[in-house]
Amino acid sequence: MSNHMTSLPTSDLITQVKHSLSANAKRAYEIRLQTGNGGNLSGRIPGTDLIIIKASGCSFDRCTAENLVTVTLDGAQIDGDGMPSRELAMHLLIYRLRPDVQGIFHSHSPWTIACASLGDAIPTVTLHAKSKLGRIPVLRLCGETTEANLPAIAAMLAADRNLQVYVQDRHGIFSFASSVELARHNAELVEETAQIAWSMALSEQLALNRERDT
Ligand SMILES: [Zn+2]
Repeated sequence: MSNHMTSLPTSDLITQVKHSLSANAKRAYEIRLQTGNGGNLSGRIPGTDLIIIKASGCSFDRCTAENLVTVTLDGAQIDGDGMPSRELAMHLLIYRLRPDVQGIFHSHSPWTIACASLGDAIPTVTLHAKSKLGRIPVLRLCGETTEANLPAIAAMLAADRNLQVYVQDRHGIFSFASSVELARHNAELVEETAQIAWSMALSEQLALNRERDT
């Protein structure tokens, strides 16, 4: 454990983070931002280098305070019965590189994955998305976010210190913010923006087809 941790966090803080993770996981499942047992989310216990993360294989609708897993920034598990999410390495990397980040949300949301095939970024076609998120870059790496993908993620974060979200091609949304709730809000906004962008691209294509056929 790092030297930054001077004392054990209070149980109130731990309870607060666990409650927030569970509530945000349930919300994401209810609105189908993430179905099945994919996706993951985590939160930093304020003032410490401890991270609470969803257990591997646990669906968002079954995510409760009891089955969350606590790890250090180095990945050592200090609490919880299950295994941490398989994408733990990506969470830890972001927390290490971005001390401002308190929560991370990741989902395999369909409109976003479809829209990522259109270019190097999800087009921020709405005023809301442009003002709240700025840029939504697409990272072209396939597979789960394992150790092999970390250098590319680190380079992207170094290039834009204010980045709040990115999309991994054929994988999903990775959103990080000052709270897990805000990270989840931003992920919802990405999915909504991708749906609008996809619909606009389709309607433009249909208009071009009509023009060509007349
Ligand atoms: Zn994933």
